[in-house]
Amino acid sequence: MARVPVPEDNQAQVLILSRRRCCICYGLHRDVEIKRGQIAHLDRDNTNYDMDNLTFLCLVHHDEYDGTTSQSKGLRGSEVKQYRQLLYDTITAGVLLAGDKRATVATPSISGDILSVFWERARDAKGNPEPRNSNLFVRLKLVNHEDVPCTVDKYWLTLEIGGHERRCLGYPSKAGKLQYHRPPDNAEVETDVYPLTINYQTPLKLALSREGWVTFHIVECDMPNPSAPFWLMQNIKMAVVDSLGTEHIIGHSSVTVFPATVQLAGIPREPEPLIFDGELQVLHIDTHSVLARLYIVNSSDNQRYVRTVTASVEMGGVRSKLKPVDDFRWEGSRTRNMEHGWSRKGDLRSVNYPEPLRPLFPDLSPVALNPGEPRIGWVHFKVSEESHSGPSINLLEALDPDTLLFSIVDSTGKEYPITKTTETKPDGFISLRHAS
Ligand SMILES: [Zn+2]
Repeated sequence: MARVPVPEDNQAQVLILSRRRCCICYGLHRDVEIKRGQIAHLDRDNTNYDMDNLTFLCLVHHDEYDGTTSQSKGLRGSEVKQYRQLLYDTITAGVLLAGDKRATVATPSISGDILSVFWERARDAKGNPEPRNSNLFVRLKLVNHEDVPCTVDKYWLTLEIGGHERRCLGYPSKAGKLQYHRPPDNAEVETDVYPLTINYQTPLKLALSREGWVTFHIVECDMPNPSAPFWLMQNIKMAVVDSLGTEHIIGHSSVTVFPATVQLAGIPREPEPLIFDGELQVLHIDTHSVLARLYIVNSSDNQRYVRTVTASVEMGGVRSKLKPVDDFRWEGSRTRNMEHGWSRKGDLRSVNYPEPLRPLFPDLSPVALNPGEPRIGWVHFKVSEESHSGPSINLLEALDPDTLLFSIVDSTGKEYPITKTTETKPDGFISLRHAS
């Protein structure tokens, strides 16, 4: 077919609308370079110069488009029209400036897939079924197509049940196990449920897909035929909202839903990452005090705060908390200006002039530790009648030193027990010195 020239004003309009950017380059590669190109007829009919049928394409893509037969999986007209719309929208939005090599994109672009959907009748706190309430467990995969790391703050699901459209909010599932019957042989299959975790520490970044489960609670709504082995849920639409507030539609118009049994409690989870580690190096107990030299280290990748260190011990079979003391004074003294000190073994001078004990935290105040940063020092706890929560007993006889337990407390109040003890004997002993 002979090429019919496109009327001048339509040609000019296409060039102006596209700013001589190829919409396939843009749609597929976000390439917004000005290209040498031609105006293409999307229906491949050279006489149809309707604006909707025209687009500016680079020479490579024009060749490729015209060489595509309708049977092949090559570029389609409808596809190119979408790219053209994207390009025009971007230009209209003013994101694209003349001479830009790359468009600056300020928002994440998230697409996704609903990998599987399971239904379970909701149960109340006593485990009794709630007839018209349901939980939908959706296994979801999300990808961010732009280099704008973001979190996903909301999950929306819109579904049509019994002619009514329902919109419900989801949240990342808890971890657990899910059982369902898989066709065609009706075999019982067990699968893990784990939350879709996208938070500020692990944002959704360019081209990295994230997979996980989201739970939707649907109240006052009858499910179509829960006794069927599975059913097709029509007109299901899902959206996620990123941290910038943009809603992204996740595909699928209908999904297969399987009834399932889900157990989210009492499932062994991945061990939580250890943030603080510690070791008991030297322990000293006298009539009124528990003194310990502890080694603690921040084993995480971030700076962390240690709020305090706690101690507890069994006295007469009852575990009691010990009271922390912010100095090393010796309570048993007739005079108050004696304190505990450290004497080296075999060093007579040191026995006469014990070293002061270096506190783990000065004044018991919280400290910040950098990743991998260790800290060694002494802590002092008082053993007294108040420490003991059980019936009255002779404390020192009742106290079982083997049950002493020290814990590091982080800024959120979470405790990390110190379970390790230095094997080697201490190189000295606690003695008394004059307090300064
Ligand atoms: Zn191109």
